[in-house]
Amino acid sequence: MPIYEYRCDSCRRVVSSYRQSLSVPPPPCPRCGNSELKRIFSTFSLQKTYRDVYEDILSDRELTQGMMRDDPRAIAEWNNRMSGGEKPTPEYEEITGRMEEGEWPTTQIEEKRKQFSGQGESKFNID
Ligand SMILES: [Zn+2]
Repeated sequence: MPIYEYRCDSCRRVVSSYRQSLSVPPPPCPRCGNSELKRIFSTFSLQKTYRDVYEDILSDRELTQGMMRDDPRAIAEWNNRMSGGEKPTPEYEEITGRMEEGEWPTTQIEEKRKQFSGQGESKFNID
């Protein structure tokens, strides 16, 4: 269900509300009871959907061609866009950074995977 945001003109309070659709009237202002809240466009509602991002990528010829060639830079860019600008973990950032420089950090990923699973096992065995 989408979140819509409304602003109360009399007390300036901003109200976020889950609405089934825009045809459902907004709730009255919780502070002053004004029932004529104005809809505002929040950054949330302007955020691109997964589908939009996907179509964006597909319309980017350079990027799709790079992916066809298995160009790590293109894959990194793809990952970047698909994550929607969310902050990646430092490890992920490092790997993506190397991919952006045109490297395939496969060995690094393998090492990390072994390291993590090894650590996990010994940790559990000690206790
Ligand atoms: Zn109000």
